[in-house]
Amino acid sequence: MTISVIRRFKNIYSVGVCIAIPPQKPTPVPTGVPKTGYMIESMVTATAHNIREELEGREPSHKGTWNALCLADFGDSGIAFLAMPQIPPRNVQWSSRGKWVHWAKIAYEKYFMRKVRKGLSEPFYERLPLKVMGIMRLKKS
Ligand SMILES: Cc1cc2nc3c(=O)[nH]c(=O)nc-3n(C[C@H](O)[C@H](O)[C@H](O)COP(=O)(O)OP(=O)(O)OC[C@H]3O[C@@H](n4cnc5c(N)ncnc54)[C@H](O)[C@@H]3O)c2cc1C
Repeated sequence: MTISVIRRFKNIYSVGVCIAIPPQKPTPVPTGVPKTGYMIESMVTATAHNIREELEGREPSHKGTWNALCLADFGDSGIAFLAMPQIPPRNVQWSSRGKWVHWAKIAYEKYFMRKVRKGLSEPFYERLPLKVMGIMRLKKS
């Protein structure tokens, strides 16, 4: 039903954990494709740009990369990973673990909350270093 509604009303968007991404293939136990923060920021950025284009009478042209860049905090340790794109086939897969992830997550949380309070989405000092590493929210059109 959701898909038919989306197909019928192409200007209705849905983002984040509320959408169900179909799994790659059937599994013995039902599974869903995981969603992480950066992947959702990618969806939201594409959606915001597309809504603007539609309001201006243009065709929506933006697509999210669905890259996954994640700091998973385990308390006294953690895992950092990068998967581009999150859903295979992937071009980049990297992961690392250690106490540094825990501290990096604390630092990121403070940075993120400051961004939210200031109403910033992706300031240049965040976008530029990520771009140098090839990590972008939007697909090149
Ligand atoms: C324990 C845990 C650890 C995670 N760790 C990581 C991580 O390290 N890195 C990473 O990238 N991702 C992580 N994730 C995943 C990431 O947090 C989620 O994918 C992301 O927050 C989802 O964003 P969202 O905006 O779609 O939904 P949410 O962040 O869940 O936002 C939805 C919002 O809608 C509000 N809401 C719900 N119903 C209503 C309603 N009826 N009316 C008004 N408001 C409503 C909720 O209160 C909530 O604020 C983690 C998730 C969990 C659960």
